[in-house]
Order: sequence, then C-alpha cells, then structure tokens
Amino acid sequence: MNLPYMEAAFERDLFLQNPLPFFVAAKKLWPGQRRPTLTHAFIKLLDSKNLLHTSFTQNIDMLERAAGVPPSKLVEAHGSYAAHSCIECAAPYDGAKMEEAVMSLAIPRCEACGGLAKSDVVLYGDPMPPAFFSSLPRILHSDLLIVMGTSLAARPFADLAELVRGDCPRVLLNKDAVGEFERPDDVVRLGECDQLVRVLCRELGWEGELEEAWEAVGGRVDRGGVIGVGAGGSDDEGGKLFDGELENITRGIDSMHGLGQACPA
Ligand SMILES: [Zn+2]
Repeated sequence: MNLPYMEAAFERDLFLQNPLPFFVAAKKLWPGQRRPTLTHAFIKLLDSKNLLHTSFTQNIDMLERAAGVPPSKLVEAHGSYAAHSCIECAAPYDGAKMEEAVMSLAIPRCEACGGLAKSDVVLYGDPMPPAFFSSLPRILHSDLLIVMGTSLAARPFADLAELVRGDCPRVLLNKDAVGEFERPDDVVRLGECDQLVRVLCRELGWEGELEEAWEAVGGRVDRGGVIGVGAGGSDDEGGKLFDGELENITRGIDSMHGLGQACPA
C-alpha cells in the first residue's frame, strides 16, 4: 500500500488523504475470520458464573464478543468493527453495507452528507470513545481486578489498574511484568496468558468448563498442540507478522492518547 508503516492506516490525517489502507486492514480484521483464544473463553466463563462485572479491552478485533462476552459488559476502549458512522456528520452507517464495502474495498460514503463512512475504530488523533470515559466509574465496583495480555504502557487505559479501591486485590496474568503491582494483595504470574489461565482454572476446578467454553466458540481445533491460535492467520508466518503489527497499532493508539489526554476521572 506504499505506507511508511502499517499503523499509518489508522492515522486520521492519512485516512483523510487516502482511506484505502484503513479498509484493507478492516478486511483483514473483519469479525468472523479468527477464533477466540482460551483466555477470551475464560472471560466468558467468568460471565457464565455471574462473576464478570466489566471487561475493559484495548482490542479492536471483537474476539471478546466472539467468545460470547455480552456487549453490555464490554468496554471497547479503542472502538471496534461493531458499529459504523460518517466521520463528518456522525450518522450511523448500515452494517451490511459496510461489510459489503470492506469486502470489495470500495470506499463507503454517508448517505446523508456524502462524507467518508468508517467503522467506529479509534484512529490515531481521535479522542477515546465517550463510552470509555462514562464507563470508568464501573471500576470502583471491582472486588477483584484481573489484568491480562497488555503492555499497560500508556494512559488513560493504564490508569484503570490504579483506579480500583485500595482493598481490591489485583491479579496480573501477563507475559511481561507491567504496571505497578506492589500492593499487599497484588498477585503477579508471568507467562503465556492461555497457560496461566489454564493453571488458574485447574486450581479452581474449572478446567473442564474452560475447555467447554472454548470449544463452544470454535477454539479447540487440532493444530498439533498449538494453543489459542486464531483461524485465518496466527498460525502462519503472515498471520504472526500481522498480529505483531496489530499489537503495534494498539500501542500506537494508546500512546497517541497518552500524550495529550489525561484521564478525567
Ligand atoms: Zn454524513
């Protein structure tokens, strides 16, 4: 696409000049092509047990939804491909028409004003969605905070971990040691999320239910013992590359917001 780097597809200024790369990425990320991981299924399992209050996510790939987590309990801090609107007049854009446009890489136009229409994924340079800020008070109701699979590097998302009450235990299940988990009741376990979740569920006697929840959303497929790979990508080289780029995009959106926008809570 002649882009200097893939994240450029998500930069507002470049999107206005040339929206095509954004739609190429949308086609690759469009819901239904990847399967939830075991960790996504764990979030659904918490919901099934009526233990999930709110899931805050930086992901735009909607795999929490694919795992069955109810949208009412999800706060997609960077937006998602679930809704679409005009960038000029904010009129909603029809989902079926957007899918058709994305799949054929045709640039969709608002039927009201002719402006560019796009999925409500946050672009670099856009503010965080109002739903993120209006949902922040939910964190005060936590009696347990689980932080998984994040660099927790930039505000305001990283502030979530600090906003819980002092008597709320916090559990970090993550590849890297991130944030400041130094309160007396904090628990830190480092490793692959799926493995840590499996160990936790084994300790809780939930291992069978976890596997069932994962299987129910198409998670367990025989891939020679590889766990949690997404269909359509993650288990091949191109998929790995793309997943890496996706992580960069998430970080990029974070740091864009971290630079200029303090948490208003
Ligand atoms: Zn419009």
